[in-house]
Order: sequence, then C-alpha cells, then structure tokens
Amino acid sequence: MTTPFPTATITGYPRIGARREQKKALEAYWAGRIDAADFTRSVHTLRIDTYRRLAQLGLSEDYAIPASYSHYDHVLDTALAVGLIPSAPGDGGSDTDAATALEHYFALARGTAQRAPLEMTKWFDTNYHYLVPELADSTTFAAHPQHVLSLVAEAKAAGHLVRPVLVGPVTLLALTKSSPGATTLPLDRLDELTLVFRDLLTALSHAGVDWVQLDEPALVADIPGSTDARLAEAARRSYATLATAVDRPQLFVTTPYGSLDNGLPTLAESGVDALGVDLSAATRRIDPDYPRRLAATVPASIRLVAGVVDGRNVWADDLVSSLDVLTGLGRESVSVSTSTSLLHVPYTVSQETSLPVDVASWLSFAEEKVTEVEALAAALTDGAVARPEAFNRADRVRRTRASSTRVHNAEVAARTAAEATNDGFRTDSATRIAAQEALGIPDLPTTTIGSFPQTAEVRRARADHRAGRLDDAAYEQAMRAEIDRVIGLQEELGLDVLVHGEPERNDMVQYFAEHLDGFTTTEHGWVQSYGSRCTRPPILFGDVSRPEPITVGWSRYAASRTPRPVKGMLTGPVTILAWSFVRDDVDLRISADQIGLALADEVADLEAAGIGIIQVDEPALRELLPLRSRDRAEYLDWSVRAFRLVSAHVSPQTQIHTHLCYSEFGEIIEAIDALDADVTSIEAARSRMEVLDDIDGFGFARGIGPGIYDIHSPRVPSVEELRELIEAALKHVPAHRLWINPDCGLKTRDYPEVRASLANLVAARQEVLETVQVTV
Ligand code: GLN
Ligand code: ZN
Repeated sequence: MTTPFPTATITGYPRIGARREQKKALEAYWAGRIDAADFTRSVHTLRIDTYRRLAQLGLSEDYAIPASYSHYDHVLDTALAVGLIPSAPGDGGSDTDAATALEHYFALARGTAQRAPLEMTKWFDTNYHYLVPELADSTTFAAHPQHVLSLVAEAKAAGHLVRPVLVGPVTLLALTKSSPGATTLPLDRLDELTLVFRDLLTALSHAGVDWVQLDEPALVADIPGSTDARLAEAARRSYATLATAVDRPQLFVTTPYGSLDNGLPTLAESGVDALGVDLSAATRRIDPDYPRRLAATVPASIRLVAGVVDGRNVWADDLVSSLDVLTGLGRESVSVSTSTSLLHVPYTVSQETSLPVDVASWLSFAEEKVTEVEALAAALTDGAVARPEAFNRADRVRRTRASSTRVHNAEVAARTAAEATNDGFRTDSATRIAAQEALGIPDLPTTTIGSFPQTAEVRRARADHRAGRLDDAAYEQAMRAEIDRVIGLQEELGLDVLVHGEPERNDMVQYFAEHLDGFTTTEHGWVQSYGSRCTRPPILFGDVSRPEPITVGWSRYAASRTPRPVKGMLTGPVTILAWSFVRDDVDLRISADQIGLALADEVADLEAAGIGIIQVDEPALRELLPLRSRDRAEYLDWSVRAFRLVSAHVSPQTQIHTHLCYSEFGEIIEAIDALDADVTSIEAARSRMEVLDDIDGFGFARGIGPGIYDIHSPRVPSVEELRELIEAALKHVPAHRLWINPDCGLKTRDYPEVRASLANLVAARQEVLETVQVTV
C-alpha cells in the first residue's frame, strides 16, 4: 500500500484556534478552572474542527493535512517522542496516567516551584519560541510513539488520514544544548537517535500510516558550532539509515525558512520519498538560482513539494508567478505547498472588520493560503482556467497594490531617495562627550529602561479609551496621573535619569504602528509566540511617514514635573520591522529607512520640546540576522544605518541611548558600536556580566549599562549582589561611562517588587561610590 503524495498540502497550521480557544483552554487548565479531562476534550474538538475546515478548504486528499497540533511546543513534543527528554512514567494508558503526563509536560514547559522550565529561544528567524532540549551523557533515547499515534487515531475516527509531523533528527540535535558537565555534543549522538526515529517510523507504519513529515530547517541555516557541510553530512547519514528501514511510512522531509546549500544534493540522493522546499518569493529573492538548482538536482523519483505560497507573511499570493515557478521546475512529480508552516500567520482575514478595505483585499492569512495552494495545484494540471476566481483575485490584488496611493507616497519616496547616501553618523564622539557635560550626569548614573509596571487601572483606562467609554480628556488625565506617580517614585528613589513609564503603550511596536502612516493593525490577527502567549503583529503595507508627533506630549509633560532629566523613549526601525508583517513589494531596507526617517521627525520634535536624552530601543536588532552567515554583514550594514538615521540630525548636546535585549554580543559587537549611540543598555544580569569580556576585547568606548537587575524574575536582588555586579563591571568600564540600570523594561512586574529592587539598585550604587576608589 503506497498512497501517492497529495497534490496540495501545507506543512503546518496554527494551533491556537481562530478565536484563541487553545489559549483559553490552556490558561483555564493551568489556573485549575478545568481539569485534565476537560482540557483534553476541548483541544480534541479544536483539532477535529480544524481538520474538517482544512478538508473543506481543499486539503481533501489523504495525508494532505499535517497533524501539527501541539499543546505547547513541537520541539518539546518530538524530544519526548524520542526520549531526548524523559516522559512521565505510565505514558497515558489510563485517565490518571493521562493527567500525570499532562502535568509533566507543562512542568517541563513552564517550570514548577521545584524546577526551572526548559530554556526558550527563537525558532530560526521567526518570532516563534521553542523549548531548548538538554542532553546529558546519561540520556538514553527510546521511542515513545503514543502521543503521535493518538493524534493519528483520533483523526482517523473522524474520517481524516492525517500526516504525523516530527522535528527531524538533525534539526532536533542541532537545536539541543548539552547539559552542564556533559562531554558529548548532541550531534555526536545522531546515529543513536536515528535508530530511535526508525523505531518511531516502524510504530507509525504498523498503525497504517503511509506518510510522515520530518522538518529539517537546520539545513537552511548556519548554526553556531555546526557548518552547513557538517549538517548536510549528518543528514546524509541519518536519512540513509531511515530510508533503508524495512518497515516504514514514506518520508516527507521539509526544509523551510530558506534554501538548501550542501543539503540539497544530500537529500536528493538520500532515498527520501518527498522533499519539501521553500520556494516563496522571499526566498527566491535571496537565492534566485534556487528553482534551477532544484530542477537540476532532485531526481524524478522524489516528489518535489514546492512551497511557493509564503507561509510566514500575510500577502495574497501572486498565483501567476507561482504557477510559472511550478511549471519551470519542469517535472511531473511535483506538489504544491506552503514555504513554511502556517504557524506564523493568523487564521483568516474574514474575521477582520476594521481593516481598510483595500488592504484587507490584499491579504491572505492561513485559511486563504490553503485556498491558494489548492488553486495552484488545480492549475498545475488544468491551467489557470481551473480556478478562475482565485486567479482573477490574484490579478486584481497585483494591480491595485501596484497603483494604490495608500501604498505609494511620492513625498516619502523622494525623501528616502534623498537620504540614500546619508550614512547617518553624527559629529565625532569627543565633541559629543564635551557637549553633553551640560546634562550634568554624575558618575555611575542610575536609570531604567523605560516602562514601569502596567497596573490594572492603566490597562483599563487604555481599553476604556479605545472603546469610547473614556473621552480624550479623561484618558489624558488618567495617563498624566500615572506619569506623576512614576516620576514621583523615581525622585523618591533618587534615580538620576528619569522616564515617563510608557503607560500609554499597549506594546512597544504596536503603539508606533498605530501612529505611523503605512501600517495597519488587526483585531484578531493573533499568532503564537510561545505556549499560550500570542502577539498581534501590525501589518506594514505602504510607505511610512509620521502624520503628527507621537510621544512628545507625554515626554514633555513628564519633564515638566521634575527638575531631573527625563529620557524620551522610542522604538527603533529594526525592531518595528522585526515584530510586524512586512511589505513584500519593496526591499526591507527601504522600509527600514522610511521608519528611521519618520522617527527622525519625532526625535527633532522631542529635542525641540527640550528633551535632552532620547532612547531608541532596538531589542530585536539581532532577531532579523539572516540564517546564512554570508548574508549577515549586508543586513547589519543597512539595519544599523537605518538606526543612525533616527538621530542623524540631532545636536551634539542631545544624548542618544539605545537598549538591546540580549547578552550574546560577541558576533555583532562591531554593529553595536556602529549604532553610534552615546549610551547602550543591555541584558547582563543572568549571564553574570559575561558581555563585558566582549566589550573589553573590542575596546567599546561608549557609555554602557549592563543590566544588573534581572527583571524576568519576581525576585528582589539584594544590595550586596547588585554591588558585586557593579564592582565587577567597574573592572571593565570606568565610572563615568558605566550606567546602572535594570536589564529591561519593568512593565511586567508589580510596584512593590520594582520599588524594592530599584531602592536596592540605588543603594548599591551609593555604596560603591563611597567605598570604592573610583578612578575616572
Ligand atoms: N522601553 C521598553 C520598555 O521598557 C523596552 C522593552 C524591550 O526592550 N523589550 O518596556
Ligand atoms: Zn529589553
């Protein structure tokens, strides 16, 4: 029995539910409002409804629907299925076993009072976060197919033959870290793990499964510690073993998020039955030769599953171009798919009621993309006439977007072009340092990163204002009252450079997107960030400009309430891009420049309002770093320049700060220096200031604030430990350049913690000033 690969498929689907049903079930279960049985029932219903909907939308062939559901994270699921992470004893036979297994699962994902959760990090260059498995020397792999088998059985009972999805062995180990003290590297245990994958495949085959999907995105990336060639070699060994297994389903290996390099010939010769490749327009732009290489390399015996429909952006597909790519592959054995899992896009445009109508007509979310995949598959056999409606729509979208005045703003284009050769650098730093003496900033200055706790009252005031229950004047009053409180607290604590606290911001990117032309925001466009946590990325659809000042009123008010300096607070262009859906009709760097220039207008107005210190946050600068190292220098070049454009025209007296949200500085330290900010604050508390070694190595000579208070935890750090961190930092940075601040914004914390922690921070700094002989 060998079922042919379906002609139309997708490689993964969102799992949170169109109305975030899964999020609600998870949170109800965690809070003890529903029990394990209720939770299991509600996510069962969600999965079956999803399968039915996908079949209706056109994924009606056997194995066209991936069983990509996860309670929390698919990396954790595969790690459990192969024993890389031990399962709970009992393994789900009885109801009590099932409840225990769930508890164990969430303990791994979220931690308990006794144990820390698994570390979490970003999944390739997306905004999804996976749980990082840890491998100890003592770990013994073993197949635990029960969970996958239960997904298959439940779907079958509802009339669907679904395709199990696992993270492939190479990617799984490439993303795994060694436990402290382990002597073997995860990838060194690939052969052993491969045998366990083989056992899993056998179990699936015995259950009658004919196709299984193994995701191998690691093969399109340069991963620290493993070169592309090494990963390709690992894939060759692993898949040679899996392909020759006697009792196995057919293997569908996917390689989303970019193009294969050494991995292409390897997989083409490996004996896998179907190969999924990312042929989105975005990937073809980076690697225009990819379709040709695929056509030349993949033998006819392998089903090529062409991911032409972009799985991670929200634009309607240009079906004519996609059909050209598909036919250009020049082969019979081709299927149509998405470039990546649809995990990264919202459910459906049809839920949106307040998008500008033209913009709405240009978008395709997950459901609409399934329709596009189906239309392309039909057109591949019968031509565009097979789906006239879909092709007409695509044509209309292409024409209206190209000529829309909402998208194309001649003034913005002219301004961007005029600044194309501006490198954005300000006067030299010696001049700036001298000019900024006037700010009167003491040694070891204390400050915070921007936000203060977002209390229930603040959130309610924003929601009421948005819903029209609170008029503008009353809203303004509520926000001013909060600013007064934040300023009062900072004065009382004795901080040197104050902030207004950002009470008016729901989110540091969405807030700016709502105030800039060229962006729109959605009502229901939620995508999973991790676990039950979802974000609603804004959509950048056109040329960007700033119709009127955004933050100036709040900053000016805050500054009027205190004699101390107040920092203005902006989100930088790269972070705004990283956390939005971006245009696919212009290069990202054009949008970056436009946002940079729009923010430059804001900076000019802040300066004119007397704000002498302005912070431009870029916590996501590193997140957009290309997966291939060869593309990184170019990216850093344009992203860093876009940042500089924001402050290119400020006077030397104005002090520009930036904030970065990570501590692994090493590989991008030059880029951080090239930001040319006067002061940079960074995450450092958790890594015990390791970052300072990088700084020493490079000779970074700017102001620096390695965060000494870890705001990711509710713990109040003691004066003593804070003092030690400051003393450690003073070994690397002189007191006039060393800023004393928390790791990040305080918005997720509560006031009692923040007050106590900041009081300790100020006290620690005071002790250091008094006891240590400070050399300036
Ligand atoms: N200024 C922002 C805040 O304090 C920075 C947040 C961030 O780095 N993610 O909330
Ligand atoms: Zn931060």
